[in-house]
Amino acid sequence: MAAMDWDVETQFLVIGGGGCGLMAAFAAARRGVEVLVLEKSRRVGCNTEIASGSIPAAGTRFQHAAGIAGTAEQMADDILRKNGGQADAQLVRELCRRSGDLIDLLVDEVGLPMVLNTDAGRAGFSFLRLHNPPGRTGGPLIQSLHEAFTRLPNASFADETPGFGLLADERGAVIGARAGVQGELRIRADKVLLASDGFGANREMLRRYIPEAAEMEYIGTGNNTGDGVRWGLELGAAVDHLGSYQGHGYVCAGYGTRLVPEIPQLGGIFVNQGAERFTCDDQGYSEFAREVMAQPGRFSIGIFDQRIYDIVAPAHHFRDLVASGALRRADTIEALAQAFRLDAVKLRATLDDYNAGVAAGRDRFGRKALPAPLQGPFYGAKVSGALAHTQGGLRVDLKARVRRPDGSLIPNLYAGGGTAAGISGDGCEGYMSGNGLLSALGLGMIAGEHVADELAAASGSGLAAPSFR
Ligand SMILES: Cc1cc2nc3c(=O)[nH]c(=O)nc-3n(C[C@H](O)[C@H](O)[C@H](O)COP(=O)(O)OP(=O)(O)OC[C@H]3O[C@@H](n4cnc5c(N)ncnc54)[C@H](O)[C@@H]3O)c2cc1C
Repeated sequence: MAAMDWDVETQFLVIGGGGCGLMAAFAAARRGVEVLVLEKSRRVGCNTEIASGSIPAAGTRFQHAAGIAGTAEQMADDILRKNGGQADAQLVRELCRRSGDLIDLLVDEVGLPMVLNTDAGRAGFSFLRLHNPPGRTGGPLIQSLHEAFTRLPNASFADETPGFGLLADERGAVIGARAGVQGELRIRADKVLLASDGFGANREMLRRYIPEAAEMEYIGTGNNTGDGVRWGLELGAAVDHLGSYQGHGYVCAGYGTRLVPEIPQLGGIFVNQGAERFTCDDQGYSEFAREVMAQPGRFSIGIFDQRIYDIVAPAHHFRDLVASGALRRADTIEALAQAFRLDAVKLRATLDDYNAGVAAGRDRFGRKALPAPLQGPFYGAKVSGALAHTQGGLRVDLKARVRRPDGSLIPNLYAGGGTAAGISGDGCEGYMSGNGLLSALGLGMIAGEHVADELAAASGSGLAAPSFR
C-alpha cells in the first residue's frame, strides 16, 4: 500500500483506551515512542474504571512495610492451583515476577497513590497482595493513567474513534488498522496492540463460547464487544480458554451495585429462599455466581453484622451499595428475616448453627474464614449471579505478541487484557481475584516496553532504556 493512502501514521497504535491500552501506551511513550490510542467511547468507558481496582502483586514496598512475606513464585502457585493448572504456567509466572515492577511504575511514574488491602484476603490467597487506588475503585487508576499518558508530547488519545479492523500485508504482518465508525480512516503503524477487552457485551459470542454466562446479567461496560478477539481470529491467531469468565455472585440486581468481596472473607454468610446456607460462602465470588444461579429464584441473601460493616464502610463500592437502598438493617435476625420475607425461625437456626461452628472452629460447608460470630445489628442484601468480564482470547507469548496455532508470531501484533487469553483457565472457577487487572496492566506494561525495545533496535536510536527489568 502506498504511503499516500494513509490518513494517519504512527509508531505504536493501541486499540482500546482502558487499563491495558493506557498502560501499554504510557510504558512505550515514556520511552519516546510515538503512540496513538483509539478509544471507542467518550474519553474512557472501560471495565478498569468500574472495577474495584484491586491489583495483585508480590514483594512490594507496601507488603514489606506491613510485614507481609510472600513471593512471586508463591503467588503464581496460588493462581495455578486455582485454575487447576489450565493456564499458561510460564505466562502466569512472568506476570507474577513483574507484578512488583507494575506497582512501582503506577506509584512512581504514573503518580497513582496506592494502598495495600490488609482487611481481608481472597479465596486461594496464601498471603495478602491486593493493592488498590484510594477508595478501592478503578476510577483513580484510569484517570491517573490517562493523565500520565496524555501529558507526554508524543502521546495522542482519540476518543469516539473505534478501531474497525486490522490491516495486514501479503505475509500476514500487521501494518496498521482501519478506524472510525465506517472504517473510513486508514492508520499505518509499526506495531499494533489489541486492548479492546473481551466479549462480555456480545451476546452472540457469549452464546457460542460461554452459554451459561449468556443467561446472566452482564455488569461490565457495553463497549467490550469482542472486536480484538474477532480480528485476531480473522488473521489466523490462536485462541485459548474462550469459555473462561469472571462471574460475580454478589450483584444486587436492579440496584446497579454489589456487595464488596471482603464481606464473606470477614465472616458474612449467604442464605437461600429457605433461610438456609447452601455452600461455602467464602469461596471465590466468581464461582459463587454459578452457585447462586442454581438456587430457587436464582438469588441469595448476603448477611453480615456491624463489625463487618465498620471495616468495609470506607470502600467506594460499599458507599454505593448503601446509597442504592439495596442494603437493609435490622437489630435482630428475626427482623432481618421479615425484611426479606424469610422464615424467621429457620434463619435463627441457621445463624445459631453458623455461630456454633465459629466457636468450634469448623464449618459444615468447609469455609476457612471463621473470624467471629455474627451478632446484631445485622445487615442484608439480596444478591444474584452475573457476568463481570470474559477471560479467554488470543494466545500471546511472554512479550504479549500474538501467536498462531503453529507457534509462529503474527508480526507486529500484540494483545493484552481481556483480548488475550487470561490466566484463569476455563469456566468461572479458575478466576482468582486480581487476575483481570494483573493480565490487563501487566501485559500492557510488557507490550509497551517491548515495542519501545523493538523500535529502538530497528532504528538504532537512543530511545531510553527501560527502568524495570
Ligand atoms: C464490576 C467489575 C469489577 C472488577 N474488579 C476487578 C478488580 O478489582 N481486580 C481485577 O483484577 N479485575 C477486576 N475486574 C476485571 C477487570 O476490570 C478487567 O479484567 C480489566 O479491566 C480488563 O482491562 P482491559 O484493558 O482489557 O479492558 P478495559 O479496561 O475494559 O478497556 C477496554 C477498552 O477498549 C475499548 N474498546 C472496545 N472496543 C473497541 C474498539 N473497537 N476500538 C476502540 N476501543 C475499543 C472500550 O471502550 C474500553 O475503553 C472487574 C470487572 C468488573 C466488570
